[in-house]
Amino acid sequence: MDLKPTFSIVTLGCKVNQYDSWQLARQLKEKGLRQVPFGVAADVVIVNSCTVTHVAEAKARKMLSRARRSSPQGLVVFTGCTAEILLQRGIRLEQADLMVGNADKAFLADRIIELVQGRKQLSERKEKLSLPYFQPFQDEQDDGVHERVRAFLKVQEGCDKFCTFCIIPFTRGMPRSKPIEQVVDEAKELVNDFGFPEIVLTGVCLTLWGREFGLTLADLLEHLHQVEGLKRIRLSSLDPRDIEERLMKTCANLPKVCHHFHISLQSGDDKILEKMGRGHDCHYFQKVVDAFREAMPDAAFTTDIMVGFPGETDYHFENTVKFVNEIGFSRLHVFKYSPRPGTKASELSGHVPHEVAETRAQRLIEVGKELWRKYALKFIGTEQEVLVERCSPTSENGVGFIASGLTSNYLKVLWKSDKPIEAGEILKVQIVEIDEVQSHLVGKTEVSSFEVCGKIEMPKMTSFSLAPAVAEKEG
Ligand code: SF4
Repeated sequence: MDLKPTFSIVTLGCKVNQYDSWQLARQLKEKGLRQVPFGVAADVVIVNSCTVTHVAEAKARKMLSRARRSSPQGLVVFTGCTAEILLQRGIRLEQADLMVGNADKAFLADRIIELVQGRKQLSERKEKLSLPYFQPFQDEQDDGVHERVRAFLKVQEGCDKFCTFCIIPFTRGMPRSKPIEQVVDEAKELVNDFGFPEIVLTGVCLTLWGREFGLTLADLLEHLHQVEGLKRIRLSSLDPRDIEERLMKTCANLPKVCHHFHISLQSGDDKILEKMGRGHDCHYFQKVVDAFREAMPDAAFTTDIMVGFPGETDYHFENTVKFVNEIGFSRLHVFKYSPRPGTKASELSGHVPHEVAETRAQRLIEVGKELWRKYALKFIGTEQEVLVERCSPTSENGVGFIASGLTSNYLKVLWKSDKPIEAGEILKVQIVEIDEVQSHLVGKTEVSSFEVCGKIEMPKMTSFSLAPAVAEKEG
């Protein structure tokens, strides 16, 4: 019987949060705790929260209640952006034994262990760790957050752009970067010790990486590109304001860098962009995308769009619809504005009724589907390099396999194979059609003796969600 203390963790929000959770889970496991699924009774239950919208905050509170219900005797820890904001306002939630802000996450594993080992009495748990908010980058020896073949490596934390709608600068603090040597060492570890062929560089404002060292993301890419065994480097969300020509050239020149760029737009109307404090207009954004396309004609561009920002009229919204079509994004991540107390936008007049925002969101989601379709159609008849993510026996007649993976430009491809394929391999796949409903390409390889026949259903397929999840948090 395994008598190790147990813990569970639920993560809401962006890849940065997922990364933090991964790190915390790893540290707890190293210290002898055993992870169990969230919802199962555990000695420690951690809710890593997000506060980017009021929906995210409500969900965090709901998860906290669930944590308490599932583990009435357990230590319930509430951390992440909602915790940070509540602590800043002096609010403690009864259901949490321990609330920890983002600045103190680096010390959370140790504190949990102390509490679990009984060095602290339960009565002492209701506390806030009080370390300096503007502290250096702290998360040594990170393994990243892992999917099957893809590891997330957080290289940057914090943001000082203060877009008027965004709470992040208040919850994540000022920008700081992980030193280049540390990033490279961690990347080597991910590749050599854990066998990950692809690394996704993440950060709250990734394009600010290196500013304090006089370096840029291009420098980081050049160093990472030399890591032996690493097959792909993917960038998470980019802020158009910080994208320099050198970054585009570097991405074009380094074959390991994926041709997929998630560049946050938020609105396709200049007036709304100004009110959001985004620091650029549509013309500037278009120039950035054009320059990328010139360097990498096959590149995919994904983005975040916020609807219902205060003062957004039908006219502004129609401008957004027009602009996203002009850019030709391959995917849109659409979300509705919700006021975050303490931000400038929360004091603006011109509230957009919920139903109007909902209608606009639905319309843009449909626009996004059509944009994906148009983009995906271009690849029929082409040969694409796909990083194999999964390969499972097919349910049809019990013979053969269905493999799936991502192209460099973030298109999901499914194809049939008559032999198992190792996850992590890069294979050339011929694209034969698209599946609009499931949003993937259907392909075939030379080794397959199967006919391609309509829809391919991948057993228990989980979604690939790099861009949208990142977009929820970042700008
Ligand atoms: S939207 Fe992005 S760039 Fe703007 S303040 Fe928030 S994190 Fe920073």
